[in-house]
Amino acid sequence: PSPISRKRLLSLRIIPYGNDQKLLIVRDVSERRQLEAARRDFVANASHELRTPLTVLRGYLDLMDMEAQGSGPLATWHAPVVEMRNQALRMEALVNDMLKLARLEADRASMRDELLQAPMLIGRAVEEARAVSKAQHRFEQNIDSAPLLIGGETEFYSIIINLLTNAVRYTPAGGVIRVSWERLDDGGAQFSVADTGIGIASDDIPRLTERFYRVDVGRSRASGGTGLGLSIVKHALEAFDSRLEIDSEPGVGSTFFCRFPQHRVQLAPQEPVAAGA
Ligand code: ADP
Repeated sequence: PSPISRKRLLSLRIIPYGNDQKLLIVRDVSERRQLEAARRDFVANASHELRTPLTVLRGYLDLMDMEAQGSGPLATWHAPVVEMRNQALRMEALVNDMLKLARLEADRASMRDELLQAPMLIGRAVEEARAVSKAQHRFEQNIDSAPLLIGGETEFYSIIINLLTNAVRYTPAGGVIRVSWERLDDGGAQFSVADTGIGIASDDIPRLTERFYRVDVGRSRASGGTGLGLSIVKHALEAFDSRLEIDSEPGVGSTFFCRFPQHRVQLAPQEPVAAGA
């Protein structure tokens, strides 16, 4: 009855109804979308504002940590200083992940399309994960050098580094982490990370990409997790028109698959084979 003063956002759904009839359901989702946008903006602004004071705090804690290692007046404070610095680092990781997620949620269409050297980026992420592993895991790689990817580097790197660091975190020492990048028959390409870790119960799998959902909160926190890694992976994959698939068995291990569709994949020109080789 009231005049429509602003542009409204309507959701339309058609469902079969009776014999040969159809029902059109029109729902006004404007308010819901506005609330979602306000929440995302708030999280993005709050995370951004928290970064500067945290950087200052961590800077001083780094200095105090060095000082406390000596024999000066701070020496007796060494343990609390180390703990304060660890907590500041954790808060920094959390704030950075919150900001990353808010940006991804806000505008997936804003991803810049570049030609990504996917095999090289995967190699770099594996080296980073190796550093986190501290030589406690064996890495196996099966990387096809031909498929390159079209999309944003930050988004792609977020996907691969989160999956790789999770594999390290949730695989006990001595385990194996297999990373592969391969062409698919339909012209697409697939990135996957398989581990021989603790695995995930089938009831938990559908909830893993929810924000702050963790199977074991204590373990996740102790290993440096922010609880946002897989939400970031999910949203970054959506920007690539892809989604996360998970195959896991408790006590045996997990595999995370990301299939990239054909329109996101471009094959690198092959090196000519040297004459006489
Ligand atoms: P976190 O920072 O807690 O790792 P994520 O969003 O990355 O947050 O992952 C959510 C939860 O999924 C983790 O807390 C963990 O319970 C589970 N998980 C993720 N990756 C693995 C894996 N490779 N093996 C077993 N469990 C995993």
